[in-house]
Amino acid sequence: RQLLARIQQLDPSYNSFISVTADRALAQAAAADARLASGDAPALCGVPIAHKDIFCTNGVRTSCGSRMLDNFVPPYDAAVIENFEQAGAVSLGKTNMDEFAMGSSNESSFYGPVKNPWDTSRVPGGSSGGSAAAVAAQLCPGATATDTGGSIRQPAALTNTTGVKPTYGRVSRWGMIAFASSLDQGGPIARTAEDAALMLSVMAGSDSRDSTNLQRPAENFTRALHESIAGLRIGVPKEYFGEGLNSATGDRVQAALAEYEKLGAELVDISLPHTHLAVPAYYVIAPAEASANLSRFDGVRYGHRCENPADLRDLYMRSRGEGFGEEVQRRILVGTYALSAGYYDAYYNKAQQVRRLIKQDFVQAFEKVDVIMGPTAPSPAFALGAKQADPVSMYLEDIYTIAINLAGLPAMSLPCGTVDGLPVGLQIIGNYLDEARMLNVAHRYQ
Ligand code: GLN
Repeated sequence: RQLLARIQQLDPSYNSFISVTADRALAQAAAADARLASGDAPALCGVPIAHKDIFCTNGVRTSCGSRMLDNFVPPYDAAVIENFEQAGAVSLGKTNMDEFAMGSSNESSFYGPVKNPWDTSRVPGGSSGGSAAAVAAQLCPGATATDTGGSIRQPAALTNTTGVKPTYGRVSRWGMIAFASSLDQGGPIARTAEDAALMLSVMAGSDSRDSTNLQRPAENFTRALHESIAGLRIGVPKEYFGEGLNSATGDRVQAALAEYEKLGAELVDISLPHTHLAVPAYYVIAPAEASANLSRFDGVRYGHRCENPADLRDLYMRSRGEGFGEEVQRRILVGTYALSAGYYDAYYNKAQQVRRLIKQDFVQAFEKVDVIMGPTAPSPAFALGAKQADPVSMYLEDIYTIAINLAGLPAMSLPCGTVDGLPVGLQIIGNYLDEARMLNVAHRYQ
């Protein structure tokens, strides 16, 4: 009740929720009370959280931030939603996001932009900006999110929260609306690494309904939180501290690295030589996959349908033209072009080859180090509207996060101070399936 009242009072200033499901939350809370009283309390019994509006929720509108799905009420729950319900969590509602998770500022949402609680003239990052803002404004202690190229970590960095993108395949994508299937991964945004670890332990797990799920049994990601990090080898990639990085942001990250040295860690200079190819490769692969995934929104089975279509072609064209916003249309056009006959080898195949080289960079680096650290985003939160007219400057927001999705590795962002009163995020990249250690490293700093 306290959080529902807080959302009602404060969220008009932030716009971090698309739907608040108060009655449902109170019913779930009552059920949690009963379970607590009976002594049968699961892991997150009664803990109030919120879900990014990309996860299907049975009986609750799931819009994906799009006019296309403004009227879509799924008849089933995503695996992630099921997992939280089984763990006794209470869902307060669905959080705002960039349309179909395409964006880095939350300005492409059909429901209007989210404002950063640290300065409401600035963006909270994206695409999981609603989840990050809701946690930052203390409207909920944790929220689910998704990360295709940085959408958990970059908003966490811009709002002083902690966000974890797990190893690709850890968290089931079943019922999570697809953007780029080979990159999409669900994960938590919370206040601390400890809270994020508790949430991830509930989110992750085996699911045969998602063919790319790693089918690993549930794990307790809090198990290593308190271990010493003496002797830890931290790789510091030179490519993450070059041109394009705001210098005050770089100073905050360097100060965090110095703290790690005091905790007994050793800094090791490394190189990830194909870093500069990550954004270009991503902007072929992600739109290509998106153009295929979004072909299902045809105005026939569900979602927006135009008025009085003249014929089938008119139905498709107007339903999609009206239902999708500008950025989504741009991605579909780029992806369709990259996959078309004659261009496939030049763009899509080439990008897949580059992806392999990027992955190889990390494999080689992890032969020498235990974790890799650097900035999450090149600068603190920017002003609303500042990058909207220039898609390429927006795409460069993810210059330090995108390679990790291409490689399928786990990574997280945690707060490491402020620049002019605006939060800065430290990114920790873990080795494949090494989330427990990554969270341990984050927890020791916090
Ligand atoms: N900003 C990137 C994009 O627009 C990443 C988004 C994401 O991770 N979902 O594609």
